[in-house]
Amino acid sequence: MAQIIDGRALSQSRTESLLSRSHHLKIALGRAPKLAVILVGNDPASHTYVHFKTKRCAELHIDSVKNLMDSSIQQSDLLSVIRDLNQDETVDGILLQLPLPSHLNAQEAVQAIHPFKDVDGLHPLNQGLLLQEKAGMVPCTPQGCLDLIHACCDSIAGAHVVIVGRSILVGRPLAALLTNNNATVTLCHSKTSSLKEVCQSADILVAATGCPGMITGDFVKLGAIVIDVGQSHVDNRIVGDVDFASVSQKASFLTPATGGVGPMTIINLMENVIYAAESRVAP
Ligand code: NDP
Repeated sequence: MAQIIDGRALSQSRTESLLSRSHHLKIALGRAPKLAVILVGNDPASHTYVHFKTKRCAELHIDSVKNLMDSSIQQSDLLSVIRDLNQDETVDGILLQLPLPSHLNAQEAVQAIHPFKDVDGLHPLNQGLLLQEKAGMVPCTPQGCLDLIHACCDSIAGAHVVIVGRSILVGRPLAALLTNNNATVTLCHSKTSSLKEVCQSADILVAATGCPGMITGDFVKLGAIVIDVGQSHVDNRIVGDVDFASVSQKASFLTPATGGVGPMTIINLMENVIYAAESRVAP
């Protein structure tokens, strides 16, 4: 039976250190570090995610301000808000909550965020720095996956990691991050042939597809570490990509659909806000 990797506890264990950095920033900057969130429309899941993020900000003495925008706004209005926040000296990080309504161009909006304030790590400059193993803003969910893996294994050097899902948000930056940590990475997607067999060869399997329960026990090598990124809303509850009942019989370690990757994504967002604020303080 798999041991559960507790993302909530791991996230909580970083509270004290982040609080201390936040306190030092308040002295150095004369104000608390600050995150500006842009939330467009009324998607209930997005509102819930923003609620958890701003709640964590408050716990870590990070100021947060919400820019709520109507779902009918035009791209130019969104870009104008981003430009204003880029120029606002009291804002350290900008979070554009995705997805956006379909008439808006998310890629253009993300690229409009100043790379130093891009606390989601999605700007092409930050993604390029990650590929080149240089310091920059690392995307929060991939970093959370790596933290969870490190919580149950000292080194991933030489391990075969299979990632299912190749999005810019999760799969691709995670592949770069794991490669930088000397893992051997296979990045799968909806066109991958023999997906089950590829997954069966994984020492570490990361599922990030948004297909509820698609990774069943027969995809998993005995003793593998399994990280479930997927979050689908099914019948008013959150369901992961991993079929917990069957996979827990095969994996050595497994994250739950809630309380696994989610809290780690949020704590790494907090880390990036603090990092962005620290970067503004003269050395
Ligand atoms: P996307 O829809 O952008 O990407 C999904 C990826 O999965 C694509 O690469 C797609 O392949 C692949 N895929 C879809 N179906 C299959 C299949 N049947 N077999 C193999 N590959 C498949 O999603 P995101 O990356 O944004 O998010 C993925 C999941 O992670 C979602 O459930 C999301 O809610 C969750 N998530 C959770 C976070 C957290 O903090 N816990 C944070 C971010 C995301 P292709 O490229 O070929 O289309």
